[in-house]
Amino acid sequence: MGKRLDILVPFLNERETATEFCAVAAKLAAEAEARFGLDTGFVLIDDGSTDGGAALYEEHMSGRWTLVRLSRNFGKESAILAGLDHADGDYVLLMDADLQHTNEVALDMIGRLLADPELDMVYAVRADRNESQSLGRWMAQGFYYLINMGQRYEIPANAGDFRVMTHRFAAAMRQLRDQRRFNKGLYAWAGFKQERIQYRPAERQGGASKWSRRKLIAFSLEGFTSFSVVPLRVVSLFGAGVALLGFLYGLKILLEVLFTGVAVPGYPSLMVAVLVLGGLNLALTGLVGEYVWSALSEAKNRPNYIVKSLTHSQAEKAPGERKSARQHG
Ligand code: UDP
Ligand code: MG
Repeated sequence: MGKRLDILVPFLNERETATEFCAVAAKLAAEAEARFGLDTGFVLIDDGSTDGGAALYEEHMSGRWTLVRLSRNFGKESAILAGLDHADGDYVLLMDADLQHTNEVALDMIGRLLADPELDMVYAVRADRNESQSLGRWMAQGFYYLINMGQRYEIPANAGDFRVMTHRFAAAMRQLRDQRRFNKGLYAWAGFKQERIQYRPAERQGGASKWSRRKLIAFSLEGFTSFSVVPLRVVSLFGAGVALLGFLYGLKILLEVLFTGVAVPGYPSLMVAVLVLGGLNLALTGLVGEYVWSALSEAKNRPNYIVKSLTHSQAEKAPGERKSARQHG
């Protein structure tokens, strides 16, 4: 029997593309078998869908599959962890349900991983979406520059969850039980030899993206507070700099009064000092709060997700004694 490939697919309200996805998934499994001799199964994770889409997958998926339904929407990052906990293949591929991640790229990544025994992960990097220097792109560049400052590992820009990994990489990911999950950072943190390939995501085939700009910004903050102390250091340094300037300015006023007897009109300088320092204090308090909140979430140590139900295909249930799927922890 060939090696096993588990394909993890987290989905949230993807009813519109569910049926088509099942057809595309069947093709992918057939290709992986034909080209690489892999025995492919799917782990679908329903991340709290409310559109009744899960039933469509149950009806239309073929071959070996498991459907893990979570008790509510926990976010894609946690859904992926749930999937990993229910997968035990020799290789694990992560894929979106909205058909933006094409079979072609997936097979290309699998081929590369299989070809090099030293490799433990191949991931897809979006080719520049917007060639122009848009504000969003500029912000993203700044984000990756800052988060990677002074780290021993690099979090690559424009890489998402479209990846294939070996079972030992998957085991490493399972060990990382961060509550506020920032997968891109976790993949980088885990180490191993990784390779990137470029791809252009296909258009979404239906439904809408779950990412608003507001969500993206919140997510970036989570990334920062779980992977970097740079923001704290930057603000502290800036605060120290401002304090030093204030001190020098005070010294200058004092000397002026002593030697020339000219009193400086006070109001503007006071206002500047109050506003600058007050603003800085507020910003720093907020930032510290972010880190405290992050520490608090970890300290509570709640499970990363709750499973509502688990269903398997006949093919999955029947043959052999598969070791029973792991629950969290
Ligand atoms: N998704 C999920 N839980 C969420 C948000 C998204 O499981 O809370 C799934 C979604 O159904 C899709 C994948 O994650 O299969 C990628 O989401 P989306 O297409 O919205 O992201 P984008 O491609 O726009 O970055
Ligand atoms: Mg998408």
